[in-house]
Amino acid sequence: MFDTPCYLIDKSRLRRNLDTIATVREKSGVKALLALKCFATWSVFDLMRDYMDGTTSSSLNEVRLGRQRFGKETHAYSVAYADGEIDAVVAHADKVIFNSISQLERFSGRVLGLPCGLRLNPGISSSNFAIADPAQPFSRLGEMDIEKIEVNLENVSGLMIHNNCDNADFDLFDRMLGVIESRFGPLFRRVDWVSLGGGIHFTGDGYPIDAFSDRLKAFADVHGVQVYLEPGEAAVTQSATLETTVVDVVETDKKFAVIDASTEAHMLDLLIYRQHAEMAPDSGDHAYTVCGRSCLAGDVFGEFRFPQPLGIGDRISLRDAAGYTMVKKNWFNGLTMPAIAIRELDGQVRTVRAFTYEDYETSLS
Ligand SMILES: *Cc1c(COP(=O)(O)O)cnc(C)c1O
Repeated sequence: MFDTPCYLIDKSRLRRNLDTIATVREKSGVKALLALKCFATWSVFDLMRDYMDGTTSSSLNEVRLGRQRFGKETHAYSVAYADGEIDAVVAHADKVIFNSISQLERFSGRVLGLPCGLRLNPGISSSNFAIADPAQPFSRLGEMDIEKIEVNLENVSGLMIHNNCDNADFDLFDRMLGVIESRFGPLFRRVDWVSLGGGIHFTGDGYPIDAFSDRLKAFADVHGVQVYLEPGEAAVTQSATLETTVVDVVETDKKFAVIDASTEAHMLDLLIYRQHAEMAPDSGDHAYTVCGRSCLAGDVFGEFRFPQPLGIGDRISLRDAAGYTMVKKNWFNGLTMPAIAIRELDGQVRTVRAFTYEDYETSLS
């Protein structure tokens, strides 16, 4: 048994998502790039590389990691590059996608002949969270003004749109794409490629893969473009757990189990989006509020049911700990950083990274 806390990536579960991605690529002709901002644990890139076309990024560090650890096609994107970064970005990228016309104008002379792209903002999105809605009013994410975009089309070979967010509803995706086509269709016909970004939950159970693939293929055919998808969460959904141990059980007006991990440090999105962790099975006669061991009063994973009373030393496994977890982990409270382990396809568990006091100390100076 491995030590906790630990992020445990299950390669067989990951491969189920990757199989779906490969099917969509085959049926539709799209290329699929892993969005590194969601998941950048490069120890499993050996598996992912066989099912995906490359990576996309949101910073210089990410594009460099994509080039060095994943390989294949490497897209660079950033909300804003700094002057001192752009040459290094270009050195690691196959395409550079700019977020604004201002950035495109500023840097298109320095891309050394690489194809460039521009992000468009369609003004509609599927996000249920204002903080994660790229199409909210006054958004800085992408250009909207068709006339201004048209003037700059000669400097780009493609366009990127990212307006889905955990969207498991194919009809909503389809309708929004229709609106986008009616708005930007004339621009699409004048470029070589269009990226539809990430946020489409097409690896989830029951998603209509055939209809989705047909829709993507029709889009590519009508506009004469190579379509890209940039899955982050969809590529890794449900493929890892956060393995923890109960370190204290406290009973006040409620029963609490304190575990050797923390929402704020190890599953930060639970706090940002005010959600509960997932645990399975979640049934039995004994209810506990499972809490983190940081000093944050609201460091709560959720209330779960157990078949037996919990005791110190019991293991608790929290689900869906791949996307937006390891990339966001931090040293708040100096808490023990979860190790990273991989359950290989043959069932063997291998720890690929353990963190030490020195890692904590060197994260500051
Ligand atoms: C965040 C992001 C992605 C990945 O989104 P997921 O919801 O993780 O699939 C892809 N492309 C861009 C531009 C993004 O900002």
